[in-house]
Amino acid sequence: MVEITGTVMNYFFHCHRQCWLFYNRINLEDNSEDVHIGKILHEIKSKGKNTEIVVDSVKLDKITDEYVIELKKSDADLEAAKMQLAYYLFILSRKGIDRVGKLQVIEKNKQEKTIHIVILNDEMIQKIEKVLSEIKLLLTKENPPEPVVKKGCKKCAYYEYCFL
Ligand code: SF4
Repeated sequence: MVEITGTVMNYFFHCHRQCWLFYNRINLEDNSEDVHIGKILHEIKSKGKNTEIVVDSVKLDKITDEYVIELKKSDADLEAAKMQLAYYLFILSRKGIDRVGKLQVIEKNKQEKTIHIVILNDEMIQKIEKVLSEIKLLLTKENPPEPVVKKGCKKCAYYEYCFL
């Protein structure tokens, strides 16, 4: 069974090759400064009182009576981050837990954070269902798609693997 995590959903929107490589455990992520910063942010969060909550294949940063809150270090790929959060709302909704998504972006070297609200409406549910089928098709392919240069490649953990 293909297990689709929040990261898999996020990567699918950023780059299909990245999604495939990550899912198939081609793990080069330790070399990436961006991923390193993400892990530090994650550790800071984990040391606070809001520890991660695991629901099926996804890990939530924080859930309140009203919101599921997801923290990101960059708004470089906002659509991917929003879809990751929408997917969390989708998983929770199937369990009868309805929440609004709140995406908090804390940029490196910046004090302020920006907040984006994500709503799981019928249109979003249909989109997620369609995307889940597409992800399953992609991940069961024998080989990854060929690399295509895009914004964010230089910060991607697979950059050297793809282009050098
Ligand atoms: S370097 Fe670019 S093409 Fe390669 S996996 Fe990362 S985002 Fe995709």
